Amino acid sequence: MKIIAVIGLGLIGGSILKGLKNKGYNLVGTSRNPETVKKALEQGLISGTSINEADVIFICTPINITIDTIKEVAKTAKPDAIITDVASIKGFIMDFVNENSLPINFIGGHPMAGTEHKGLDASFATLFNEAKWVLTPSKQTCSNDMQTLEQIINELGAKVIIADPYEHDKAVALISHMPLFLSQTLLGFVQNHTNSELALELAASGFRSMTRLAHTNSELAADILSGNKANVLETLEEFIKYLKNKGADYGAV
Ligand code: NAP
Repeated sequence: MKIIAVIGLGLIGGSILKGLKNKGYNLVGTSRNPETVKKALEQGLISGTSINEADVIFICTPINITIDTIKEVAKTAKPDAIITDVASIKGFIMDFVNENSLPINFIGGHPMAGTEHKGLDASFATLFNEAKWVLTPSKQTCSNDMQTLEQIINELGAKVIIADPYEHDKAVALISHMPLFLSQTLLGFVQNHTNSELALELAASGFRSMTRLAHTNSELAADILSGNKANVLETLEEFIKYLKNKGADYGAV
């Protein structure tokens, strides 16, 4: 039986475990907080905490801890284990892996699914149903490992898209990271506006939809906006130009 390990039992890590439950794998996992690990064991999501024998390891820690986690995992993982991550930014992680000759088979990953919630309790088995899941192979990635990982991702209900890490970072700036910034900014703008009291009392589903992303887990939002800052700023400048042109359509100067 293949052993699959998950490190970081939060929204994404927990959802991977829940999605793979009863699919014929031995699931193991670790996390920062012993209480989270205890809960995952009690809920039967993991059978143990040792990742040394794992065939596939999903690193699901916050973005800024991913490289440190890769370094740690490289010390103990089986030499033929497939190691992947789920971090929302790929360029700097793939540079690290490609520039350091670590004794690991690493394939970068980013599931295009999530919610504004965090932690194991927020995770659910169907999170990745119908989602795209980006994979960014490293220099040493072989096609057999890609196939194995793709099969597991398909079992989670997601479809693999192979991308260059830097093209990925530009694309997600456009459809995810800049919208996160705009949503935060819109909410802050309204909250600080002189008409905010009545406006917020009247705000209904449209405003809630436009500002849902502003409620993203604050650690994740900060990691994303600082980590992909150059692409977000470039996209934002283009967006501002577009906004001005659109405004002109309605008679604004
Ligand atoms: P999350 O719910 O906060 O989960 C991260 C978990 O990692 C925490 O629950 C924490 O668990 C654990 N953790 C923190 N530091 C750790 C460490 N040093 N060692 C081991 N475990 C540690 O966040 P998430 O949304 O799942 O995000 C995790 C990754 O998924 C990020 O890289 C993010 O970019 C990516 N991602 C997120 C989304 C999304 O929409 N949320 C979508 C796609 C990809 P305990 O403190 O409970 O142990």
